Amino acid sequence: MAILVIAEHNNVALAAATLNTVAAAQQIGGDVHLLVAGQGCGAVAEAAAQVAGVAKVLVADAPAYAHQLPENVAPLIVELARGYSHVLAPATTNGKNYLPRVAALLDVDQISEIVKVIDADTFQRPIYAGNAIATVQSSAAVKVITVRGTGFDAVAAAGGSASIEAIGASCDAGVSSFVGEELAKSERPELTAAKIIVSGGRGMQNGDNFQLLYGLADKLGAAVGASRAAVDAGFVPNDMQVGQTGKIVAPQLYVAVGISGAIQHLAGMKDSKVIVAINKDEEAPIFQVADYGLVADLFEAVPELSAQLG
Ligand SMILES: Cc1cc2nc3c(=O)[nH]c(=O)nc-3n(C[C@H](O)[C@H](O)[C@H](O)COP(=O)(O)OP(=O)(O)OC[C@H]3O[C@@H](n4cnc5c(N)ncnc54)[C@H](O)[C@@H]3O)c2cc1C
Repeated sequence: MAILVIAEHNNVALAAATLNTVAAAQQIGGDVHLLVAGQGCGAVAEAAAQVAGVAKVLVADAPAYAHQLPENVAPLIVELARGYSHVLAPATTNGKNYLPRVAALLDVDQISEIVKVIDADTFQRPIYAGNAIATVQSSAAVKVITVRGTGFDAVAAAGGSASIEAIGASCDAGVSSFVGEELAKSERPELTAAKIIVSGGRGMQNGDNFQLLYGLADKLGAAVGASRAAVDAGFVPNDMQVGQTGKIVAPQLYVAVGISGAIQHLAGMKDSKVIVAINKDEEAPIFQVADYGLVADLFEAVPELSAQLG
């Protein structure tokens, strides 16, 4: 049994989500092969070959794969999939874009966002915004699975010595083209990869007050997130949203400031290792999941905390 994992990358570096996905593949068992589909992605392939526990790296280097357009990447994966028992991709924007196409083309059900491997056919995945965990079993010849990174500890990025094999085929379906992208630039860590996150909610009152959180985050080396209420009110851009319809995170430390703790927010952060909540309402539901709760006015508590951090 061999498992194909689709690498997440930007043609320059391998994304951390790949390492969590390889961890899930290893729990299923069998040889793990990594597919790097991109353009000018040699450095990614080299990095992929170093990942602990990977037996082989397949590289499809062609203009058609430069931006991982699902119309082009899906047929490539389908072509390869027939030689594998499982195809796994991170449950990232990219993975969630191309893998359903792969499942449809293979005429199998996709198993989405697994957080646990029971055995090679059986997996656990959250449903109802994480309020219940479903155990699903699949008899599909090829199991097509997206992996929620927060459910699996990353394998080591180094220590492996996989072979690298170039794939000649290039598929340009000719039905889509890449027009452009606007990427948020930040000196702070990326939200889903950060070890510490400071998040603000409607209690911040406006976007300017988020400076308090940026200051605190910079002292902690943290990323800054937000509740949907803060995003919808226009305090911060929507790529900062944590939750059911935002990003799913599980840092070592999550500091929720002026966030009530609605289930849709908890769905995105309740697997964090340590949760700290600052809220002036002692009845706020966030305190039910918090390891440390501070009932205080955030406009006093956050500056004090920042000052203590020096
Ligand atoms: C389909 C759907 C999907 C959703 N997806 C998401 C999602 O992905 N992410 C998400 O976050 N939400 C999501 N929501 C919205 C969610 O239901 C809540 O409305 C939202 O999370 C509330 O954000 P909040 O906690 O910032 O605001 P509120 O619920 O208004 O809470 C603000 C908190 O700030 C506290 N506060 C106010 N002033 C201060 C102060 N000075 N000092 C200290 N504390 C103070 C208050 O006591 C209160 O607890 C979704 C909703 C739906 C229906």
